[in-house]
Amino acid sequence: MNTWDVVIVGAGAAGLFCAGVAGQRGLKVLVIDHSDKVAEKIRISGGGRCNFTNRLLDASAPQKHFISQNPHFCRSALSRYTPQDFIDLVQKHGIAFHEKHKGQLFCDHSAEDIIRMLLTECEAGRVTLWTGCSVKSVRHHTQGAQTTHYVLETDKGPVQATSLVVATGGLSIPKIGATGWGYEVATQFGLRLIERRPGLVPLTFDGAAWAPYAQLAGLALPVGIETGEKKARMHFDEDLLFTHRGLSGPGVLQISSYWQDGTAIRLNLAPEVNLPERLQDAKLRSKKLLGNELASLVPSRLAEAWVSQDPALQRTAAEVPDKALNKLAQALSSWTLTPTGSEGYKKAEVTLGGVDTRDLSSQTMESKQPGLYFIGEVVDVTGWLGGYNFQWAWASAHACAQALPAP
Ligand code: FAD
Repeated sequence: MNTWDVVIVGAGAAGLFCAGVAGQRGLKVLVIDHSDKVAEKIRISGGGRCNFTNRLLDASAPQKHFISQNPHFCRSALSRYTPQDFIDLVQKHGIAFHEKHKGQLFCDHSAEDIIRMLLTECEAGRVTLWTGCSVKSVRHHTQGAQTTHYVLETDKGPVQATSLVVATGGLSIPKIGATGWGYEVATQFGLRLIERRPGLVPLTFDGAAWAPYAQLAGLALPVGIETGEKKARMHFDEDLLFTHRGLSGPGVLQISSYWQDGTAIRLNLAPEVNLPERLQDAKLRSKKLLGNELASLVPSRLAEAWVSQDPALQRTAAEVPDKALNKLAQALSSWTLTPTGSEGYKKAEVTLGGVDTRDLSSQTMESKQPGLYFIGEVVDVTGWLGGYNFQWAWASAHACAQALPAP
């Protein structure tokens, strides 16, 4: 039988990184992926430039940028493998990068640079990679008191390993190879799962209710966006993008990870403007239509769509009653609307939930089932938009690779 120290299933961000580090520690490593191409998500990430980490990540306060039933679980791995560690690796490979927005680091040229880097690291660790290969079953064998191993039935025959690392990611973007395999393996070995749902995903609205705004598709603007009440309230200041079916853009993607079905989101469409004051001022001094005045405060397409819904606003600014002006200011600065759903896994960047961290070691990523490890997005740890998800993939992979038993 084909025998390995470790078999890693999933040649994505976490799997490839773990393989390189473990291989360079001297372990005999096999990586299996059912797709023909490795790391497809890295390839499409960050608009093709891969936002590979975030310089502002604060491992001492992971709840700031990560969502999990236990937001402190990720602290250990994140503090032992930091954004700077990954930046050092990127620099060692001569990959040019730049900072875009709020600490987000992107490749200057292409996400392919990161994939090549990971594959080079795997080569340095003499890692064997089987692509286009499915795993049909996993069995665990115990020999005597101490020695255990896993046997995987694959398209290329059975393989045996002391350790099995599950790095199959989440459910988002099934058309490039996402599956729930990792969750099935967790269940097979009696580990608990936290309910999964799409995260970092555009939100959708009822067709009829959305009709007046569908014409705004393509319009982007900076907004304040929030959801939840009291302690559960989350707020982001980011860009919003109108789509034919609803709302997208960084602000909406961030809030979608916190939004609960059936609840509302609130938007300030003019966060940098004191709307009541500016509209009153327009009323006192302007002979123009209110729509034209509004167009100097918010994007003109938005002003037009808003004013066209209310005949009371289709007059000169001076003619609009105070009550209607105040109502308009209130509506634009606290637009409250309830999404009917999201675009789902087809468009989601990540999957919330996953393997319950109560059944994993935060030091090693080993599960309660000896020799079975889970890393990356398959675990119930989800980062904000902005490079946090890749940093979790690198950090969890590194913690695991350091802990895997050497022969
Ligand atoms: P993945 O990278 O998804 O890798 C999982 C691997 O497992 C895949 O190769 C898959 O083929 C394989 N696999 C799945 N099922 C099986 C099976 N049954 N058998 C064998 N192999 C299997 N995060 C950021 O931090 N920055 C970004 O810029 C960013 N942009 C993104 C853009 C998009 C469009 C998307 C969808 C996601 C983006 N993300 C980004 C999120 C990030 O890509 C993921 O969080 C990260 O890739 C997770 O790494 P992973 O190794 O756990 O899983």
